[in-house]
Amino acid sequence: MIQDPTRHPEASAAVDLAALRADFPALDQRVHGRPLVYLDNAATALKPNVVIEAVTQSLARDCANIHRAVHTLSARATEQYEGSRETVRRFFGVRETAEVIFVRGATEGINLVAHSWGREHVGRGDEVLITGLEHHSNIVPWQHLCDSVGATLKIVPVQDDGDVSLDAFSRALSARTRLVAVTQASNALGTILPVEQIVRLAHEGGAAVLVDGAQGAPHLGTDVQRLGCDFYVASAHKLYGPTGVGVLLGRRERLEEMSPYQTGGDMIRSVTFEKTLYAELPHCFEAGTPNIAGVVGFGAALRYLEAIGFDVLGRHEQELLGYGTQLLRGMRGVRLIGTAPRKIGVLSFLVDGIHPHDLGTMLDTEGVAIRTGHHCAQPLMERFGVPATARVSLGLYNTRDELSAFARALVKAQEFFGR
Ligand code: PLP
Repeated sequence: MIQDPTRHPEASAAVDLAALRADFPALDQRVHGRPLVYLDNAATALKPNVVIEAVTQSLARDCANIHRAVHTLSARATEQYEGSRETVRRFFGVRETAEVIFVRGATEGINLVAHSWGREHVGRGDEVLITGLEHHSNIVPWQHLCDSVGATLKIVPVQDDGDVSLDAFSRALSARTRLVAVTQASNALGTILPVEQIVRLAHEGGAAVLVDGAQGAPHLGTDVQRLGCDFYVASAHKLYGPTGVGVLLGRRERLEEMSPYQTGGDMIRSVTFEKTLYAELPHCFEAGTPNIAGVVGFGAALRYLEAIGFDVLGRHEQELLGYGTQLLRGMRGVRLIGTAPRKIGVLSFLVDGIHPHDLGTMLDTEGVAIRTGHHCAQPLMERFGVPATARVSLGLYNTRDELSAFARALVKAQEFFGR
């Protein structure tokens, strides 16, 4: 696995696309009579057969609650659930499975940290630092925390090309910064942030760091020990896994200084009416029956990605990103937003005289699925003075032909709107 595919832009993709695409049944369909061109991977990625089969097997055969019973089905379900935890540990380079907490997704992971760690370690007059690139999921929980405890939310500004400079970061850090929460890669513009350096700077100043890996994890081989962050969150559904499941990865030292986020069954060692003793990590943060089939499917998705390898995947996506950028740059009336030197496969753009929503609707009639709107990043849209953009976001199964089909559909939309 590699940390940054943009270091290898010249390498040619060595991915067997036909074989890989055959793994994704959703690709084999027509939309409005046209072959589906799915370019909305930043919202959610399509699922390979191995994930669908793992979820089906979990629901159809190994259907039992975990951790509690002695019977065979429960033992199997527990083994698979805990097996996924080990897969997550290996995939993200986590030290031990105790540091892997299953949650509903990146959003819940961030809320968990804001509620448990935040309320105990951020106080009146302190600062929480985020960037202007963040998804609402990495803004609102911190805003809510700051409002509750009397802290200040500070924002590192975004440059005109959609990048965030380390200098700007250093300037925004202060002796009162308790936590830095940054995205690994922007869902709206694709910018890859220099997270390793940001973590180093934050730690020098004594602040903890949460990395929102919702968009980074599917595109960049991520080793959390190398990143050095205190907390890392990701969502399975953007990693070709099921919805409703994700992870919070936390350093043991940090997790041990946190109270449980939710309480109830499965997170306890013993309960009396006078006192409850909580379970060990990670179970003390997993109250109630979890999304067992989802976790099992998540493990299958990560093993699928491991088998392809982020070197292959990264080269393919970077090659496509280059091609897509070139196509859009060559089109009249198209303005790209987000041209940072290091990007994941995201192309945000505007077309003169066509509202992004109208464009999205027109492209859908050609079988092309793109995202339009504020991408849950309204402050970022405001920074660029636009209410919305159209966004192409690439996945491992996308092809140059699909990008060409997208470009043809875009020209057709321009003609339709007389542009
Ligand atoms: N952070 C980023 C950068 C995202 O792109 C998203 C989802 O699009 C999230 C957080 C939230 O992820 P989820 O809705 O899976 O919790």
